[in-house]
Amino acid sequence: MRMSQRMDNLAPYLFVEINKKIAAKKALGEEVINFSIGDPDIPTPENVINKLCQTAHDPVNHRYPETFGLPEFRRAIADWYMKRFSVSLDPDSQVLPLLGSKEGIAHMALCFVDPGDIVLVPDPGYPVYTGGTTLAGGKIHYMPLLQKNRFLPDLNAIPEEVLEKTKLMWINYPNNPTGAIAEIDFFNRVVDFAKKYDILVCHDGPYSEIAFDDYKPVSFLQAEGAKDIGVEFHSLSKSYNMTGWRVGMVVGNAKAIQALNIIKSNLDSGIPQAIQYAAIEALNGCQDAIEKHNAIYQRRRDLVIDVLNDIGVEAKSPKAGLYIWAKVPEGYTSIEFTNDLLDNIGVVVTPGTGYGTNGEGYIRLSLTIQDANLVKGLSRLSGWKNSKDRFKAKIRK
Ligand SMILES: *Cc1c(COP(=O)(O)O)cnc(C)c1O
Repeated sequence: MRMSQRMDNLAPYLFVEINKKIAAKKALGEEVINFSIGDPDIPTPENVINKLCQTAHDPVNHRYPETFGLPEFRRAIADWYMKRFSVSLDPDSQVLPLLGSKEGIAHMALCFVDPGDIVLVPDPGYPVYTGGTTLAGGKIHYMPLLQKNRFLPDLNAIPEEVLEKTKLMWINYPNNPTGAIAEIDFFNRVVDFAKKYDILVCHDGPYSEIAFDDYKPVSFLQAEGAKDIGVEFHSLSKSYNMTGWRVGMVVGNAKAIQALNIIKSNLDSGIPQAIQYAAIEALNGCQDAIEKHNAIYQRRRDLVIDVLNDIGVEAKSPKAGLYIWAKVPEGYTSIEFTNDLLDNIGVVVTPGTGYGTNGEGYIRLSLTIQDANLVKGLSRLSGWKNSKDRFKAKIRK
């Protein structure tokens, strides 16, 4: 078999590697506590499940759906954006349902990027921005997300000759993996910048509903003129604990939405209709679950931060999102510290470098871990220093 060159350029998906390591540990009969994956452990709200069960019985929903989605679903998405962000969207031209936002994110480059074109990608960042660009033959210019800039990209640091060839830029707030948030003044600056250089802005915002301490994240589309130059990807995965259902959306600029619809109509046949009805129920129905879940995540966040700080691992308490971005202790690289935690105390975290070179010096811990395991994991983490000394002593002997 002779595979495409494309395959050589595509890195295996980050978690594939981590899962291999965990499997090896488990095969040795050891229990590992996994803080590495962002996948809500809390079940989908009951009203949403009921809607799926009910609509699954209707034979109309057993046939091919449309790529463009049910008109009622597009309407529900537009209504939700109005309710939540006061952003008005035309459901027929500015809204496109997705089979989870990951596929839309990956496919977006196919609409705008020719071989040699440049895409701006945050580093550290969600690996799919890179994967999609690579599949389209595009080149990547990484925008470092640094603590000194509150993990916002420095737009002035991007060279002019890069910008001349740039077609598309990715941003993501509340941010995975850094936990950083952006305010509307940053989004306004991005709009001005993108208009100046004729760049499509793709804002990825799946964590907008997961926030703490009464903070409410903003939408990129709230920025003045954002719809002229950008789109926002969103998802029901994190907001409604529906990662397994594969349903998300992209909204905003009609030309970009139409382009993605053309690509997608050649690749997929839309979201199963019963799932679209369940998604409508999630968006239109009672929203109490969101606050309830945020209270759970906030409590977990506080517990994790306390334990990390106790063992000398520096981490700021995030205002939103599902992750804690913690600095590795001095003398370790991200990978070394990750391996140390796995080998010594059976705790899995994600090395920051899995999200890009600027993730060096950090690890990411996810808050989507069931309470019983969280308690176990935290007790292991509190004992990390001792286990470490013991381990060292053992080696010295
Ligand atoms: C989880 C996540 C997504 C999307 O997930 P889907 O389940 O595919 O909708 C997108 N972007 C980021 C940054 C994420 O963390």
